[in-house]
Amino acid sequence: MPESSAKGRQKSCLPDGAGSAKRRLERKNQFFIRLFMEKFDVIVVGAGLAGLAAAWTLAGEGVEVVVLERGDYPGAKNVSGGRLYLNPVRDLFPGLWDEAPLERAIVREGASLMARNRSVTFHYTGSELRSDTPQSFSVLRSKFDRWFSERVEERGGMILAKTLVTDLLHENGRVCGVVAGGDELRADVVVACDGVLSLIPERAGLRAPGRPHDYAVGIKEVIQLDRNRINDRFNVADGEGAAHLYAGDITKGLFGGGFLYTNAESVSLGLVVSIEDIAREAAAGDAPSLFEAFKARPEIEPLIRGGQTVEYGAHVIPEGGYRSLSRLAGDGILVAGDSAGFALNLGFTVRGMEYALASGYYAAKAVIEAKKAGRYDAATLAVYRQSLEESFVLHDFQTFKDTPQVLANPHLFGHYPELIGNLMRDLYTVPAGPKSPIFTTLRRHLTLGELWTMLMDAKGVTKI
Ligand SMILES: Cc1cc2nc3c(=O)[nH]c(=O)nc-3n(C[C@H](O)[C@H](O)[C@H](O)COP(=O)(O)OP(=O)(O)OC[C@H]3O[C@@H](n4cnc5c(N)ncnc54)[C@H](O)[C@@H]3O)c2cc1C
Repeated sequence: MPESSAKGRQKSCLPDGAGSAKRRLERKNQFFIRLFMEKFDVIVVGAGLAGLAAAWTLAGEGVEVVVLERGDYPGAKNVSGGRLYLNPVRDLFPGLWDEAPLERAIVREGASLMARNRSVTFHYTGSELRSDTPQSFSVLRSKFDRWFSERVEERGGMILAKTLVTDLLHENGRVCGVVAGGDELRADVVVACDGVLSLIPERAGLRAPGRPHDYAVGIKEVIQLDRNRINDRFNVADGEGAAHLYAGDITKGLFGGGFLYTNAESVSLGLVVSIEDIAREAAAGDAPSLFEAFKARPEIEPLIRGGQTVEYGAHVIPEGGYRSLSRLAGDGILVAGDSAGFALNLGFTVRGMEYALASGYYAAKAVIEAKKAGRYDAATLAVYRQSLEESFVLHDFQTFKDTPQVLANPHLFGHYPELIGNLMRDLYTVPAGPKSPIFTTLRRHLTLGELWTMLMDAKGVTKI
């Protein structure tokens, strides 16, 4: 029995005048009776962004929804780099963003190619990044998810934390609920939003077991730093932030990279590396040791100097792209967010959060349609996939369907960062004797063989 359900069954001992608190408790009790004795409209598994987006949308339309979350509270178990692009999801959640605990609007972009002993960096900033509706913000998931779950509860949705879902319930070949804490909980439809390691799509027959090739592991620290120090070090003002991605020797040439996002009073620093690559290349070291070496790099250490690590997390990321997506709907079940495989790494952007939010939203809309029709079979719920196809979600996954294969090219993370680093070294070096002409320096590095390799690699890049 989930811990919180025992609390919920206690009889109210509040005086009659206790107003809304008493009413809330009574409502909660009715919820528990419905949940454990009868049936709910919708059970959402997982209070991450996908699950909360689904519940927020359902509760807003008066649908009875309960979110089951294994963590102590929503956000307790959620790791993300922490950059949320709002443009694609702003209109799906009207009124949500004005009060949301967003950290800083990203107004400076940076990217570095990291060679063994040097690096090449570019920065970008533009007036559109400083507009009244900035395109992206840094967020801290432990804060954001908790806040979002409170908004769901305000709309009448129920969140049950400390509740681990262990299995699906089936009846006549369709999903009709879940098993949680040993209890069987029934619903018209289950929305699986339980993240990247979800077993639910497999149990529902919607996906084959995952392959290491389709996943990366990410390690992230939140490092507390004084607000003014952040402003000075990253050349931003209060409320403004910087985002920086790093690729190359920091993953020992393996597919992956590093990220740094500034929050209001901390920075999120992390490293992501392909699970298949790191298992194959033992000499590269493990992910934690790569991360420690990344932190110690002269490009990084001064940025976090004097800071205190207040959060450390490791998490898996789905990176298989379009070809690794789960089937999205079955009889009595929908799959959203990481659970379906909705995360996309394009090298210069890592996106999963707005796909989670949007897929949760469209899953909720499909349930609302199904409720009107009074049918929850796969054919009725297929409207979910259609909506995703018409939205940015499946458009993006189709557009970038070849990206995982192209980015798997080891030249991109090993050879080119060294090549460009060495070229820059020779261009910038002033020797004791005469300096070579620039063309001679270019020719020394960009040989015919090198140019041919680049041409071949560029053929792959045209697919992304
Ligand atoms: C290191 C790292 C960096 C990233 N950087 C970015 C970034 O900068 N921008 C971006 O957009 N995306 C980023 N991502 C991806 C992004 O974090 C995910 O795509 C997104 O969080 C997915 O949301 P979700 O709701 O599907 O899953 P999650 O946020 O993982 O939520 C799943 C929830 O389900 C719960 N749960 C799991 N199993 C059960 C169960 N059996 N019973 C009950 N509850 C369960 C979990 O506790 C969790 O709360 C990053 C990911 C990582 C790991």
